[in-house]
Amino acid sequence: MTKHDVDQFAVTREPFYREVAGEIALYEAAYARRMPVMLKGPTGAGKSRFVEYMAWKLGRPLITVASNEDMTASDLVGRFLLDKDGTKWQDGPLTTAARIGAICYLDEIVEARQDTTVVIHPLTDHRRQLPLDKKGELIEAHPDFQLVISYNPGYQSLMKDLKQSTKQRFAALDFDYPEAALESEIVAAETGVDAKTAEKLVQIAHRSRNLKGHGLDEGISTRLLVYAGQMIAQGVDPKSACQMTLVTPLTDDPDMRETLLAAVETFF
Ligand code: ADP
Repeated sequence: MTKHDVDQFAVTREPFYREVAGEIALYEAAYARRMPVMLKGPTGAGKSRFVEYMAWKLGRPLITVASNEDMTASDLVGRFLLDKDGTKWQDGPLTTAARIGAICYLDEIVEARQDTTVVIHPLTDHRRQLPLDKKGELIEAHPDFQLVISYNPGYQSLMKDLKQSTKQRFAALDFDYPEAALESEIVAAETGVDAKTAEKLVQIAHRSRNLKGHGLDEGISTRLLVYAGQMIAQGVDPKSACQMTLVTPLTDDPDMRETLLAAVETFF
């Protein structure tokens, strides 16, 4: 692996991240021991942004993998590809991360099938190894390598959950939407809307979060608030901006949409 190949995974600019509950120091301590870390929480609550920030702060390359149910172990580890000279091995993202000492972030790992998930096991205990069975190679993880996964407890069902044998390989940090003042600050900083507008957006989100479990699977996330702020900063009238970013993506239920629109109209 050339320096160029490693450089492409570097986080070169400081990502904007506001600490919520002491998670930066806790993560640093876990990283010092190369402990695998699980980030738990709803979608759009800042998990990915946090890993980017920590990779930048620790000066480590970051390799992110979005998991899905069709993902196989080979998609993570690598496979033989056919080219004009025959077959050629190509490392998967997990293998690359283990070789170069990156932080490997497996986003929504629970989406992956269990036979895929188990390939991370030997990397997460004292062995810190990755067997490439098809290639007949055993990789010792680079001393700086660390594995991070995200997990949304809201989506889990009995059918789709991580096995205890997987869960208990990670230390975990809870992520939730930040309290109102901090979330408003984040929305204002990310979008350029004024503080008052950001506060109103956060209040709309709070109303929707109270509807979780009462017709909504999830409330409005910080990510959607950032979208709303971006549309408003783009000159779209706030009501249309909120409809497009806070209501329409969230639910198809006509009654729920009406309830959410009413919340929007209270503030804009
Ligand atoms: P997740 O990975 O939990 O689904 P993201 O990390 O993608 O969520 O967060 C969504 C967006 O919310 C980010 O792009 C960022 O704009 C904003 N955000 C959420 N939490 C924070 C935070 N603590 N500091 C800065 N931005 C945040």
